[in-house]
Amino acid sequence: MAFDVDLFVIGGGSGGVRAARIAAAEGGARVALAEESRMGGTCVIRGCVPKKLMVFASDFPTQIADARAYGWDVQPGAFDWTRFRTALEAELSRLETAYRGTLAGAGVQVHDTRATVEDAHSVRLATGERITAKHILIATGGRPFVPDIPGADLAVTSNEMFHLPALPRRALVVGGGYIASEFAGILHGLGVHTTQYYRGAQILRGFDDEARGHVSNAMQAAGIAIHCGTDVLRLERTPGGIRAVATDGTEREFDLVLYATGRRPNSAGLGLEALGVELGRHGEVVVDDWSQTAVPSIHAVGDVTNRVNLTPVAIREGHAFADTVFRGVPTKFDHGLIASAVFTRPELGTVGLSEEAARALGPIEVYAATFRPMQTLFAGRQDRVLMKLVVDAASRKVLGCHIVGPGAGEMIQLAAIPIGMGATKEDFDRTVAVHPTMAEELVTMRKPVRTG
Ligand SMILES: Cc1cc2nc3c(=O)[nH]c(=O)nc-3n(C[C@H](O)[C@H](O)[C@H](O)COP(=O)(O)OP(=O)(O)OC[C@H]3O[C@@H](n4cnc5c(N)ncnc54)[C@H](O)[C@@H]3O)c2cc1C
Repeated sequence: MAFDVDLFVIGGGSGGVRAARIAAAEGGARVALAEESRMGGTCVIRGCVPKKLMVFASDFPTQIADARAYGWDVQPGAFDWTRFRTALEAELSRLETAYRGTLAGAGVQVHDTRATVEDAHSVRLATGERITAKHILIATGGRPFVPDIPGADLAVTSNEMFHLPALPRRALVVGGGYIASEFAGILHGLGVHTTQYYRGAQILRGFDDEARGHVSNAMQAAGIAIHCGTDVLRLERTPGGIRAVATDGTEREFDLVLYATGRRPNSAGLGLEALGVELGRHGEVVVDDWSQTAVPSIHAVGDVTNRVNLTPVAIREGHAFADTVFRGVPTKFDHGLIASAVFTRPELGTVGLSEEAARALGPIEVYAATFRPMQTLFAGRQDRVLMKLVVDAASRKVLGCHIVGPGAGEMIQLAAIPIGMGATKEDFDRTVAVHPTMAEELVTMRKPVRTG
């Protein structure tokens, strides 16, 4: 049977764009892609990129205060949110244009509309057009999940954070994951009185406990009011703002309530279940190691599969799919040992097993150091850095590395290379320190702080 295209990709985010480009430019495939919103997807338009730029913006008051301690005669002025937002929008438009250019350069046919799956080999565009394809890739990502509480419509999600008409004076962030915690840090850094509610016992669930405690303590010391074991019962509009009635019996008023309480895969209404594509409990598209669904001509990559929801993972899954199906290079993406960063202040960089997860597998040694780094100590700040290695007692392999402090995201990227190669603690010890740096601590910790 002759198909209109070899591959139809639904979703122009990190995973879909990579798969489309590789299949077309390197696999020689005829590729079409539908995007219902802006090209680039969550990461570029409403995720990693605008968020990190907001983190940068929020760092300046501290940097200016530090500059004064270093002898510079500078004063923090007022933050012009509208000016920043305009510049941010211009940057996102530039990136969107670059993404479109990449796809056009690869010969991918772009449809700026919603697409749904009609049968195993055809998609229907919202314009009414039907396109047949030998392969279909679902790369529709995810969206914020807001629990159904009274007044939920008064809250915003991360999607709206980049378009706020004005910065609030008082903000409540609900949630304890990395997105919630990062936004709490951003708002605080921009001068907003920030409160964070999380129903669990400690923010950043799933990360190393010691690292979580370190980040949480530092955020609170900086002035963010973190209330764990606390959830919102209802939100009410008041003359002065939004009242949050909480499970701890308190009623506090805010100007902005941000819900960052998880995300759900965008799989509803795509027509997948009717075709026999299996969906999981949260609507995630169930795939095998090759990102293939129960329908052989339909694959899925990225957040819609809810495996590890990070941009580089979506990109690698999309690339592996294109290599396998269109380049004759069967490639499985390995989801183990994925390094990541949380851009709170202080920042957290992590790779491999937490101390808790490693201990559950067998005897370990834990090497950890906390200290006040030279740069901020000089400026009179009490901030402490945490450097931590989790080592398998038998094989001596470094199973996990957790860093809290300035530049942790940059450092963990490099630490992930030897750890991925199976480096032992002795390999780390043999490495000569780069002095004076914070990272030298990673190769100079001689005695375990805990064993067992
Ligand atoms: C606030 C925030 C911060 C983040 N920060 C980081 C970070 O620092 N580092 C990191 O690695 N990850 C981060 N992420 C996660 C990262 O953005 C995602 O993992 C990544 O974007 C997933 O890529 P994807 O291709 O699966 O989906 P997406 O990027 O979400 O792309 C899916 C695209 O599909 C489109 N679409 C959906 N349905 C249809 C349809 N039926 N027809 C046509 N188009 C459709 C959507 O409009 C969207 O553009 C962050 C996410 C958020 C929300």
